[in-house]
Amino acid sequence: MKFEKDVVIGLEIHVELNTKTKLFCSCPTQGSDAPNSRTCPVCLGMPGSRPVLNKEAVHKSMMLAKALGCRIADKLVFSRKSYFYPDLAKNYQITQYEKPLGEKGKLDIDGARIEITRVHMEEDPASLIHPGGMSGSGYVLVDYNRSGNPLCEVVTEPQLESPRQAREFMDAFETLLLYLGIFEPGKNIIKADANVSVKETGYVRAEVKNISSFKEIERALSYEIERQRRSAKEGLVLHQETRAWNPEKGFTTGLRTKETEEDYGYIFDPDLVPVELSSFENIELPELPSDKAGKYKAKGVAAEDAKVITQDFHLSRFFDKVIDSDPALAARWVRRELVRAMNYNNLLSSELKIDPSELKRLILMIKEGKITEKTGQKIMDKLILERFDVARYVKDNDLGASGDNSELELFCRQAVEENQAAVSDYMSGKEIALNFLLGAVMKKSRGKADPKQIKEMLLAHLK
Ligand SMILES: [Zn+2]
Repeated sequence: MKFEKDVVIGLEIHVELNTKTKLFCSCPTQGSDAPNSRTCPVCLGMPGSRPVLNKEAVHKSMMLAKALGCRIADKLVFSRKSYFYPDLAKNYQITQYEKPLGEKGKLDIDGARIEITRVHMEEDPASLIHPGGMSGSGYVLVDYNRSGNPLCEVVTEPQLESPRQAREFMDAFETLLLYLGIFEPGKNIIKADANVSVKETGYVRAEVKNISSFKEIERALSYEIERQRRSAKEGLVLHQETRAWNPEKGFTTGLRTKETEEDYGYIFDPDLVPVELSSFENIELPELPSDKAGKYKAKGVAAEDAKVITQDFHLSRFFDKVIDSDPALAARWVRRELVRAMNYNNLLSSELKIDPSELKRLILMIKEGKITEKTGQKIMDKLILERFDVARYVKDNDLGASGDNSELELFCRQAVEENQAAVSDYMSGKEIALNFLLGAVMKKSRGKADPKQIKEMLLAHLK
């Protein structure tokens, strides 16, 4: 492949699926953490044991391959990847090589379409425990609880152009997994290896291993790009190699010069007969982010709001509970005010405890002009932390908008909704656009309103 960009990044993601049992035996994937307590002859690699394929894992892998728009193989074929290491008792890993489950897919992220080379299934090796740290241990312990857990490996084309874009891809990928319901953060592991190269070295690749969190991917890649550029500047000749990311120290270190796939001596696994995939062909996918955004837009939600909300699985689920109040207004409130209050309180959307029916009431009161947007913001700050009756709170604290103001509030809200172009102009720093909105409100009030008051009200809408 001929590259032209300054930076070329490709990802190889391993995601653990949330199946009840392991890929080739009936040991549970979750449960006791006592070392080697969830094992059997199959996942311990005992001679004579035979793998039996887990249907749930095939089903969930198919969902992922389909959601990524992959061409699906007609048969599921497993191979043995030979390597000798304590995390692999059989001395081979059961994976897919010659014929992956899915090929030639895609995932759209903000402004770019990233092609997916392949999606395949494989078993997870055991975990190695180094008491006293990687370099300080005189021995290593092996825990086979993880051995045989079902993984999907997803490989992208080298089309990502920056560490930031790699992070965006990972975020979009995780969102997709959540929509599909095949992965549980905190319980299941997701890891990425990244191939990265820069123009200055003539695109000599390094594979950075061991990136285990999404925040880390941006840091690890930024470091590695900088290291490669510096090496090129110093006139060093780089070789293709595998490097490990050290998150504590914030740098990568060389592990080995890159082996080729041929080195693993793949052979078809004679214990697993090819499985016809026709019975899985009609798998129905749940609603995906793009479908959901389309649905929101059809209900009157602004395109940008629909996009931002659907990109966050939990926020989108929450929004579904308040959309009825007034789709456009609710979307604006969820995306701006709720997210603002969440960020202020360091809350994730998955941790939201806010009562949707009370937020709905709040939105309706704003819609009807019973409270101003500014009062609404103050109530939101409280509502995100505790449960209470919004209507009663407004009444008890005498927070209702006076009659005249409520009409003006309505005009301001309408002016903002009807003039999104002016709003984005103002948001991007063109202060003059505010005059346009002010004019729109004046017109609605037939010139009776006080410009100074309108300006204040408008500013509250434009935060
Ligand atoms: Zn087992």
